[in-house]
Amino acid sequence: MTTQQQQAYEWAKSKKANYINGQWQPPERLYLCHNPATNTPIGEVPSTNQHELDEAVSAARNSFHNGWGNYSRRERAKALIQAGQIIREHQEELAALITLENGKLYRESLEDDMPDTADLFDYFAGWTDKFYGETAPVEPGFVNYIQREAVGVCGLIIPWNFPLLLAMWKIAPALCLGNTVVVKPSEETPYSLLRTLELWDAAGVFPPGTINVVCGAGDVGSLITHHPDIDKVSFTGSTATGKKIVLGSGESNLKTVTLELGGKAPVLLFEDTPDLDAAIERCFHVAYSQKGEKCTEPTRLLIHDSIYETVSQKMTERVNGIVCGDPYDADAYQGAQSCQAQFEKIMGYIESGKKAGATLLAGGEALTLPGEYKNGFYVQPTLFGNVDNQLAIAREEIFGPVLILQSFSDEEQAITLTNDTIYGLAAGLYTADVSRAHRVASAIDAGQVFVNRYGCYDFASPFGGFKQSGWGKEMGIHVLSAYSRVKSVWIAYD
Ligand code: NDP
Repeated sequence: MTTQQQQAYEWAKSKKANYINGQWQPPERLYLCHNPATNTPIGEVPSTNQHELDEAVSAARNSFHNGWGNYSRRERAKALIQAGQIIREHQEELAALITLENGKLYRESLEDDMPDTADLFDYFAGWTDKFYGETAPVEPGFVNYIQREAVGVCGLIIPWNFPLLLAMWKIAPALCLGNTVVVKPSEETPYSLLRTLELWDAAGVFPPGTINVVCGAGDVGSLITHHPDIDKVSFTGSTATGKKIVLGSGESNLKTVTLELGGKAPVLLFEDTPDLDAAIERCFHVAYSQKGEKCTEPTRLLIHDSIYETVSQKMTERVNGIVCGDPYDADAYQGAQSCQAQFEKIMGYIESGKKAGATLLAGGEALTLPGEYKNGFYVQPTLFGNVDNQLAIAREEIFGPVLILQSFSDEEQAITLTNDTIYGLAAGLYTADVSRAHRVASAIDAGQVFVNRYGCYDFASPFGGFKQSGWGKEMGIHVLSAYSRVKSVWIAYD
């Protein structure tokens, strides 16, 4: 480890506070956070109560009316650019904290998570003066203009798989339009966000109350969802919790809700896949990188009968070659799962697949590493073949390094299998036939379809699912609708 990484780890050990109204507020309750790669305690973090949340919401409301909400568009853009630049300048320290709290490889934290986390502020700074309303063609004697306004105070509930990146996916567009936020990081991964707020605070990037961070475990998410003075909630996580958030909104003030939920993404490999080796390599990488804790990762590989054996053999070789290890080991391909609950969930699905008789092609066990990582939450990368689509491993979100192979004999069966799921986040297909590419993409019931390269992302492109994978979109112009409301103003004239 470099000195900078060690300093980040030392910093994490000290007792943490919530960031409310531009102050680090001593917490009334605390919980202990753990490093999942070693299963040892890191340090104490606040567990926010109702009274502390009320203060955070009140600070956000005040900044919305008297602070950030009154900033000019140019001032907002400048602050967002500065916020991104600070993240860029501290990317090594922040990447070390992501690895500490989440267990992913340092290389993944630094090279996958960090660049976008900084750059997306430039993208949303550009939107501050480009998202505007319309005039409706109404009857003579009236002007009707349609104005897009900030929503107000937004509650943002962040998951643990990309702890800093997904926080910024929500914070940047919300602030871009003049909203203020109360952010709850996952109880597993609060450190990278808290440190970023320290850095922004020291540089005076945002006025007090614009961004408030409330940590916690157990009931803070629900308190946010039920809070009568929060106008909107944006959540990324499981479908089960997404449904509770919808109920919480209904039981309180009907706040608007954006949900980015679970997935069970299929990838179709047709017999005319243009470069089969490249397609297998791409599917392998997106399925197993980041230890499989990605909502859009391919989890079901649907393969045409004629190439099934070839794909199965090559994928088995690749999966057996994965090295799990110390997150700082340059030769390691897979780090630790994010927490004990997630580790147990993944192992439960692996056992259920084995019991149900699915063909185990690779992995299938928990992994014990030597030395300080011996109690870490490591799972052997696992591959199942010839999986019946009714099994739990084919239907439910595992969110780990587990891929299943299934076969199909024609296009119709491939589409039926693809859509036979409650989820609709993402899907992919590989074919050399351009007509088939359009036909199948159009028949797939998912919010994102990748043709001939699985997993493409861009700030400009909307991200979000259909069916039980969520409501609304992140990224692109589309996310701005989620953080704004439309007002219709009529002016009568003679
Ligand atoms: P959850 O979906 O349960 O989300 C946990 C977060 O939601 C915590 O911050 C928690 O805070 C909050 N929360 C819990 N209950 C409520 C509620 N009633 N109202 C509002 N907020 C609430 O995720 P887990 O971490 O338990 O992960 C479970 C599964 O979710 C994973 O295995 C994976 O399948 C999926 N997942 C999907 C992600 C994605 O990218 N789409 C990301 C992460 C997980 P608190 O406890 O303080 O209330």
